[in-house]
Amino acid sequence: MKYLLKCCSRVIDVDNKPIWCIKCGEHDIEVIEFTEETLLPCPFCGGDAMAQASTWGANPFYWYECEDCGCMTADFSDFYEAKKRWNQRN
Ligand SMILES: [Zn+2]
Ligand SMILES: [Zn+2]
Repeated sequence: MKYLLKCCSRVIDVDNKPIWCIKCGEHDIEVIEFTEETLLPCPFCGGDAMAQASTWGANPFYWYECEDCGCMTADFSDFYEAKKRWNQRN
């Protein structure tokens, strides 16, 4: 099972839901299950990602953008590819 620790924006792979963070030593941390659907917070400011869509002629394209600092992924014709790319940046 993968979990996202909100305190450090880390994803860890463990059997049981963690209740504290080894890295920063925080207890009572916010932990969410990390799945294909989960969006990581912004790698720069920790803000929330927003899905964006537009069209180029007849072709739709998608990207993800940070609500707070405005950093964004490249454009992708595939929605899931854009999401994957957002999660892969560090
Ligand atoms: Zn932490
Ligand atoms: Zn940001």
